[in-house]
This record gives sequence, structure tokens and C-alpha cells, in this order.
Amino acid sequence: MLHNPIIKSLLLIVMLAVSISAAGFTVVIDPGHGGKDAGALGNFTNEKSVNLGVALQLGRLLKKGMPDAKAIFTRDKDVFVTLQGRADIANKSKGDLFISIHANSVPKNSPRRNSVSGASVYTLGLERSATNLEIAKRENAVIMLEKDYSTTYKGFDPNSTESYIMFEMFQSSHLDRSIKFASAVQKELVSTAGRKNNGVRQAPFYVLVRTAMPSVLVELDFICNPTQEKFMASEDGQKKLAMSIYNAINRYRGITDNATLFPHEDHSSKDTSSVKTAENKTRLEKSTTVVDNTLYYRIQFLTSTKTLKGSDQRLKGLKPIDSYREDGIVKYTYGNTSSLTEAKRQLSEIKKLFPQAFIIKWRNGKRIK
Ligand SMILES: [Zn+2]
Repeated sequence: MLHNPIIKSLLLIVMLAVSISAAGFTVVIDPGHGGKDAGALGNFTNEKSVNLGVALQLGRLLKKGMPDAKAIFTRDKDVFVTLQGRADIANKSKGDLFISIHANSVPKNSPRRNSVSGASVYTLGLERSATNLEIAKRENAVIMLEKDYSTTYKGFDPNSTESYIMFEMFQSSHLDRSIKFASAVQKELVSTAGRKNNGVRQAPFYVLVRTAMPSVLVELDFICNPTQEKFMASEDGQKKLAMSIYNAINRYRGITDNATLFPHEDHSSKDTSSVKTAENKTRLEKSTTVVDNTLYYRIQFLTSTKTLKGSDQRLKGLKPIDSYREDGIVKYTYGNTSSLTEAKRQLSEIKKLFPQAFIIKWRNGKRIK
């Protein structure tokens, strides 16, 4: 697999990402579609216009309310930009956050066309769902509109399920932060913009794979539903949707700034509750009832938006495992040792199965940072 040039360049992007750090805070705003690519169609407007409207509102809000932040647009008018072109703009600007803005739809012959509604925020990840994959395929299909797509995308076919298999190893080092931001946007789209909550999801969107920073793709609502289309096309609606994303950036920055300022305090203790599966119950009880201030090391190897069954193939048969919950995300760990040398040895083993695994510190039944 490593002979594949696409995988090689994808790995390179991950490695580059680690060394990138920009001054201030750069938000890359990516209004989906544009120009000859209208995106999903409503009755009287189209996706590219809604996406751009919300993106421009977001830019205005950032300029007004977050003077230290810089907004970079992948497009700020009705022009066609390739998916790779969008990722290039984001990476060149060394963004701190990448937000791709889209409107959802279901096929023309679907009986749910007029009734389906709700917002979803997507990150990359391992959650396998046919619906999510279909949405990613639809959003990635714009690649076919490019003349030289077969050279640019080196054999990646947006319509073929097999093409997505190589994305699976892409548990990006930014996934934790992407999910954290996605959860904040999702909450805001419900509370500030009044959208129905369709939850944070994971799917292989090309722009998310190719951007070397925490990245999310927002599906604001369904443009095929006349009621939601009217809301998304209105100035008031676009302002509310943009305000949701703006508020989420604020929240996200609060979380990440705190984490950097006070690295030894656990700011997520309220949200941290270990998931007690039968498998790890005994061990967890020990660690929560006995007062033990020893510092332990665990190997975190997977995160998921939902609790996985012990038999789930995404866990690749690894045993025994533990999990804990943080910001609504289930995080899976292996081992619990006070020896850093031993933890490093375990890490090198686990990396064979989960290349993105890393060591976390654990004390008194909680992850410490
Ligand atoms: Zn779209």
C-alpha cells in the first residue's frame, strides 16, 4: 500500500501538519461548489449561492468580532475552484481551522425530498455508514467536472467505494480537534440557528483528507426541502447560520487556549465519564475507588462518535481495551502502565494496527493534559 503515490503524499501532508504553526488565528472558509458547479438544487436557488452567502456573513462576523483572526476564502465570488485547489489554498495559508460550507439534499426521486431536514457537521474518521458515504460521494463528485481530473487525483474515483478505502487509515492527527470543533458547530446550529440536530458524523470528504489542519464540513440543512431552502436563502437565515459557526469558533478557541495555558489541569473533567463496558468494569472501579496519584500511561488508538461493541471490526480485535468519554466523543485506549518505557513499547506494537495511536497520561481515573 505504501507504494501508492497518493498514500505517500497523504502521509507527507500529515507530517507537514505537525510542523505548521501560524501566528494569530487563521480560519479558512470554504464555500462549497461555485461557477459551473451549482451543487444541490432547490426550487428557486442553489447550493453554491447559499454556501457563499453564509461564508461571506461569517467573514463579516469574524472581522467585526475577532480582530486577531484572519479569514481566508477559497472563493469569495461565484467561481469554480477544484477540490484540490481548495485544499492548496488552505494549506498555503497555514490555517488553524478549515470550514467547508455546504447544503444537503436527497435524490430527486426520494419521497423524503420535501420533509427531510436538519444540520450535520462532518469530520474524517472511521464511522462506516452508507448514508454518510453517499453524501461524501456526492460532494466529491465535482472532481469529474475537471478536465484533467485523472492526472490531478491520480486514479481516485469519487464514485467508487473502493477509492475510499485508502482514506480509512487517515485518522488524522487533527481528528480530536476536528471533532471538538464539529461538536461546537453542531450545538450552535441547533441552539442559535434552530436547526434539527442530525449529529456530528464522519465521512471521507476529499477536502477534509487534503487539509493539514482541524477540518470540518458543515451541511447546513436540506435545500431540497422548500421550508429549509427559504430559510437558507434569506438574509436572516444566513446570518443565523453564520453566527452559529462564529460562536463555535469562539468556543473552540476558548477550549484550545485553556488547554495551552493550563496544561496540568483537566478542563474537561465535567464531560469525562468513562464508558463502563463489562470488559473493563472491574479495572475502572479499581481506578476510581482507590486513591492513587500514580501517573499512568495509556495508548489512545481510536475515537468514535458512538460507543462501539467489543466485537466491532474497527477495534481490530485489540484486547483488553478501555474507553473514556470526552466532549461527547468515545476514546479508546490500550494498557495502563506507570512505565513510560513500557508504554512506548506498547505504542510501537499498536501502531502496527493503528498508525495514528499515541500515548496519553492518566491519573485518578482521568486523562490529564
Ligand atoms: Zn455541497
